Amino acid sequence: MDYEPIKKTLNSLAVPPNFLDYNQICDRFSWEEVRRELDGLPAGKGLNIAHEAVDRHADGLRGNRLAIRWLGTDSTILDFSYADLKKESSRFANLLAGLGVEKGDRVFSLAGRIPELYIAALGILKNGSVFCPLFSAFGPEPVYQRLSKGNARVLLTTRALYKKKIVPLRERLPQLQHVLLTDVEDDLAEGVRSLPKLMAAASTDFSIPSTDPEDPALLHFTSGTTGMPKGAMHVHEAVLTHYLTGKYVLDFHPEDVFWCTADPGWVTGTSYGIIAPLVHGVTNIIDEADFDAMRWYRILEEQKVTVWYTAPTAIRRLMRLDLKPRQEYDLSKLRLIHSVGEPLNPEAVVWGQQVLGLPIHDNWWQTETGGIMIANYPSVEIRPGSMGLPLPGVEAAIIRRPSKNTVNVVEEPGVEGELVLKPGWPSMFRGYLHDKQRYRKCFLSGWYLTGDLAKRDEDGYFWFLGRADDIIKTSGHMVGPFEVESVLMEHPAVAEAGVIGKPDPLIGELVKAFVSLKPGVKPTNRLRLELIGFARKKLGSAVAPKEIEFQENVPKTRSGKIMRRLLKARELGLPEGDISTLEADE
Ligand code: AMP
Repeated sequence: MDYEPIKKTLNSLAVPPNFLDYNQICDRFSWEEVRRELDGLPAGKGLNIAHEAVDRHADGLRGNRLAIRWLGTDSTILDFSYADLKKESSRFANLLAGLGVEKGDRVFSLAGRIPELYIAALGILKNGSVFCPLFSAFGPEPVYQRLSKGNARVLLTTRALYKKKIVPLRERLPQLQHVLLTDVEDDLAEGVRSLPKLMAAASTDFSIPSTDPEDPALLHFTSGTTGMPKGAMHVHEAVLTHYLTGKYVLDFHPEDVFWCTADPGWVTGTSYGIIAPLVHGVTNIIDEADFDAMRWYRILEEQKVTVWYTAPTAIRRLMRLDLKPRQEYDLSKLRLIHSVGEPLNPEAVVWGQQVLGLPIHDNWWQTETGGIMIANYPSVEIRPGSMGLPLPGVEAAIIRRPSKNTVNVVEEPGVEGELVLKPGWPSMFRGYLHDKQRYRKCFLSGWYLTGDLAKRDEDGYFWFLGRADDIIKTSGHMVGPFEVESVLMEHPAVAEAGVIGKPDPLIGELVKAFVSLKPGVKPTNRLRLELIGFARKKLGSAVAPKEIEFQENVPKTRSGKIMRRLLKARELGLPEGDISTLEADE
């Protein structure tokens, strides 16, 4: 079914948006002008994200403005003004310096959405160190992979997460020197310190050292199809993209109250759950709790949220419920809704219009791009099902590859191909940690290869079609099949495993594993449940397979690669395609 475009008129918008004419903005765009809208460190000492996000507001006219309102699961509310954030993040920066943590050192966090995490992120950036957030629902294995790959020396976490996930790994992480626990009064052991105690002893004065815009700032792990997760490195210059997308896509105005529902363990939760709103000096709502429809509507009402950034899985969950949000809640302050992370069904865009009174603005980007690259803008017509138009300053195209190393840019509209971007936007990742080769492979003939398949219509709108590789998107989170297969194969009963994303109406894709067993092992239901439990314990609920199916053989190429595409085609009852490289015994 085709959906009617959603037109915008100035009268239909509650607040005049930050730009009206997309083409005009693109024509006169320059990143240098964006840079001029930021402050820069005093005395020409460079560009530091935390200065732009906190100190310049604290020292300027917005010092008393509410920067972060934190909503705890137990109904506690904690407020931090920009001045408070400056002090607290300075304490954290000082305590890092006291521990000998230097510029460029990576500092990891493994925690839910607690205030300490946000303060630490800003303090880490102030110190010139690199913020590396990990998702708290990861099991010990993904945590280990990331901490060891990142040579973590410092980790901020909670007592419970430490006991459950770090203690079993401690011997495998000899380089981990300092664990900072957010919720203990006293140090637990050597190197396992009480964060409150260290914070109390630290000074609230901190002068941000010179920071080159190319200094590393953030490290986000993302999954690949082959091998273990890759660490995408971002630099302080990324703040230009955070600022610009805050202005043009999220359309921040000085009095906005913004709520991004993403967890900082994923890139959206850092770029937009921390940096972009603070850089604009608006109020940033942080909810500690997980999805809960009534709680969410209550937050929108009680906190008078004006701009809301969420994800398709959450929207689909809301759509399923028989609630009448506009009748039951006062959502009159809400003026913009955005979504990212996975395809947003056109019905969801229209549902937003009908049930919430506002369309949902889809946008597209990746861990590697560091910020929104393709978007639906407040002043621009929405075509439901489309990701929108490239950000001003970003060139996107569709390519075809007639041979492995030749690129043909597709000019005709409606042709399916690979989505590529012209490198050069400020938040582009600068490399994968310790993995130059994998980084190089992302570029071809002057384009960055996103790994997504898409098409562009005659007016330049991009439409997402799928991934070009086997990466799974479940509830908006990337899962690398290799990581899951490796853990399943650690079980003594398993000979081989192949993992795919199985389409699911609610969470996009669910992780499904096909497992072949060692000779003599019987494929019982009990074993299936045991394997699901085994994977859950090691990988955590966000990554572990939800379905396991036994197969006599997992199809492989003659060179031994699991043919996940074939598994998927069989699962979906689709044509099997070219299976000429399939192993002989299949
Ligand atoms: P991540 O690096 O975890 O943020 O995942 C990035 C990937 O998520 C993209 O390459 C897409 O495959 C998918 N993705 C993100 N946003 C969208 C969107 N708006 N529509 C469709 N897919 C999306």
